[in-house]
Amino acid sequence: MTAGGIPPPPGARAVLDALQAAGHEAVFVGGCVRDRLLGRQAADWDVATDALPEAVMALFAKAIPTGLQHGTVTVVERGEPVEVTTYRVERGYADGRRPDEVIYTRALADDLGRRDFTMNAMAWDPVTDRLVDPFGGRADLEAGRVRAVGDAVERFTEDGLRPLRAVRFAAVLGFELHPPTEAAIGATRATFRRVSAERVRVEFVKTLLSARPGWGLEVLHTTGLLADFLPEVDALGPRRVAGLAAALGGTPARLAVRLAVTLWGVEDAEAPLRRLTFSNAERRAVVHLHGFRGLAPGAPRTDVEVWRLVAAVGAEALEDLLAVGEAVGDPAAWRALGRRIDALGARGGPLSTRALPVDGRDAMAVLGLPPSRRLGRLLQALLERVWADPTLADRGALLALMPEVDATLGDEEAP
Ligand code: ATP
Ligand code: MG
Repeated sequence: MTAGGIPPPPGARAVLDALQAAGHEAVFVGGCVRDRLLGRQAADWDVATDALPEAVMALFAKAIPTGLQHGTVTVVERGEPVEVTTYRVERGYADGRRPDEVIYTRALADDLGRRDFTMNAMAWDPVTDRLVDPFGGRADLEAGRVRAVGDAVERFTEDGLRPLRAVRFAAVLGFELHPPTEAAIGATRATFRRVSAERVRVEFVKTLLSARPGWGLEVLHTTGLLADFLPEVDALGPRRVAGLAAALGGTPARLAVRLAVTLWGVEDAEAPLRRLTFSNAERRAVVHLHGFRGLAPGAPRTDVEVWRLVAAVGAEALEDLLAVGEAVGDPAAWRALGRRIDALGARGGPLSTRALPVDGRDAMAVLGLPPSRRLGRLLQALLERVWADPTLADRGALLALMPEVDATLGDEEAP
């Protein structure tokens, strides 16, 4: 593990330099220090300082008090938002969710001591290239170990989200859980149950999108966390959860795919997604995929049936459905379906009547029909003729076909 690697982005570095130039302490802290040691690109470079928020606000032209109750000011430098947080400790977690009181401190070591895991409790001064690592975070990184800072049960009782974060970091980084840290997960479930659904969702999504989603699901199940936030899946039992975990392993890292696989065994995907506060769009995408649970990949026999399926799935969701099918079903059969779809050109072909080179007004003109539901049925029938014979996807051919196809519709909806 080298500390040489990735430099901080220029805006974050400029903020840190300006704080030091004004006589304050300023260091990079938390995730960026961890990720830099791992040679990974950090999501954001957070700065910690002994300067009070008012001093930070006064020092920069563009500073927004985004989290003053936590001592956080967002400084915008060279177009980059940089979070600057005053060294702080926390007192009392009566509700297991947020500290009762935030107290500023002059000592970096105290600030690091309130953090969740040893690998997240390091600071780095880029000017002197000094690593501040009071809890052996670097050694744990080298050993591939997620370990709570201090007593794990105590720390997980302060904030019930931490157990899930432990699983998330282990899944993302391919680490193991330090045994006392893992044991503390089961011992503090009462606190975990009080954590807001939003916070749980964020960590669960990161676990699902990690390199080891299946490992994550298994550990969530064995530690009991899954029973607390996704009881529908947990209730499937160890064997079926293990099956889902194995299925997750082969899927592309797309949220809708991984959620659909996770929920494949439950009747109602909507309720758990709603409870976990997934957005309407996320919910809709997963419920749509989940709706094809009953589909046997060999069921569409004729070409028109394959087209009809692709039209029902929709071009946007097709890739995801094939990925889910391959993961949870017979992979060879789903791959064969994918090949049939490709052979028909159904991924790029007309999937709805809107994609035809004729429309309802053409039909009214050719057949002398008034506006009516019959027009929609006629266009649908024309679409299916095109699916059966792609050479008909031509305006002249379709106009010529209209009387014949209209005659097959019968009279029941005639005005
Ligand atoms: P990511 O790369 O996913 O952003 P991160 O380590 O930066 O990971 P954040 O949630 O952005 O995680 O938090 C930043 C830092 O704040 C962490 O590295 C950790 O030091 C501290 N932290 C965050 N959440 C908690 C928590 N629930 N309890 C204690 N410390 C926390
Ligand atoms: Mg972060």
